[in-house]
Amino acid sequence: MAQIRVATFDGPGADPVIRQVPWPKVLGKAALIQIGACGVWGTDLHILKGHWPKPLPWPFTLGHEMAGVIVEIGPDLKTDWMDKPITVGSKIMIPPFMPCGECYYCKHYPEHSNRCQTPVYYGRYLGFDKPPHLWGGWAEYVYVDLDMLPGTKVYKLPDTMPLRLGALSEPITSTIRGFARAQRMGGFKWGDTVVIQGSGPIGILAIASAREMGAGRVLCIGAPETPRLELARKFGADATVNIEEYRTPEARIQRVREIVGGYGADLVMDCTGHPTAGPEGIEFLRDSGFYIEMGQFTDAGAIETNWHRFVAKDITIMGSWAFTENDLALGVQMLDQARAKYPWFDMQAIYPFNDDGVKSAVADAMAMRTVKSTIVPFPELLEA
Ligand SMILES: [Zn+2]
Repeated sequence: MAQIRVATFDGPGADPVIRQVPWPKVLGKAALIQIGACGVWGTDLHILKGHWPKPLPWPFTLGHEMAGVIVEIGPDLKTDWMDKPITVGSKIMIPPFMPCGECYYCKHYPEHSNRCQTPVYYGRYLGFDKPPHLWGGWAEYVYVDLDMLPGTKVYKLPDTMPLRLGALSEPITSTIRGFARAQRMGGFKWGDTVVIQGSGPIGILAIASAREMGAGRVLCIGAPETPRLELARKFGADATVNIEEYRTPEARIQRVREIVGGYGADLVMDCTGHPTAGPEGIEFLRDSGFYIEMGQFTDAGAIETNWHRFVAKDITIMGSWAFTENDLALGVQMLDQARAKYPWFDMQAIYPFNDDGVKSAVADAMAMRTVKSTIVPFPELLEA
């Protein structure tokens, strides 16, 4: 019987261990998906540093920015979450966080179903011990089963979309939801000047989203110049500010305000993960501007700040945590429509699926040598 290889971590700071599990039976509403590409996410890194604020089911398999191909499907699973027909050979992405549809938030606040109380959570809350042990993307295959976990959601990718492009649909969706919420609140209008704090993967994807959603000028603050700020400009940033060159908040505020001119930026989005970004970022804004805080996704600590500045500037600050199940289709669509407009693959550094590959993918992302470390278990699927 064929065996499937899957990477697991025993706890923060541990090295990956690749384990073998038996090929599962695929019945009813289940499917087995061969993974084409799976990204290393900023929060995976925070989890491995021990920053995740809740207990986790160690050992488990990380990785949830995944795209793959259905290789086996049960007779009762016929469509994806958007009611598109799926079958063996369909290209699929599955998100990490799948709201249940039944709890208080899912029922009464569907626009905030990301606060679901009983979600299905791939790559994080499904422990390796749970059979058939295929609950994360740093593996050869991932298993879904809507009989066992009815909240599970899969999304069909366009047949012509490369899997490694599909693996970006999950991270880009967070940025789309953030901007869309700001638009609905009147905080982001066509032609607005947008500042993105952070030049990691989310920062880079946020530049493209801002462009696609109508930004006028886009600035990006981050480091290092190579590969990150260079890439930010290729993705449409009109200007970048290097935090290694402008080393204090005061220097950066002055530099951004010089570039933006006038009264300041209309909208700032934090994609940094550094707690000090907020008080600095609101000073890039014109008075009455809009601040989207989505960089503090894990708990990287508290800072001292003065809330008087929020009030005195008469600004709106919005916390935005990932996305809902209905936002994800927008991520897939944006990548599809804008496929030729941005150098998406330039973001990705490809790693093989073995002990060294997984370890290096994580280490290189932590050291910011890569923008988006991406694990590709089957080289033949790289071009698929
Ligand atoms: Zn729920």
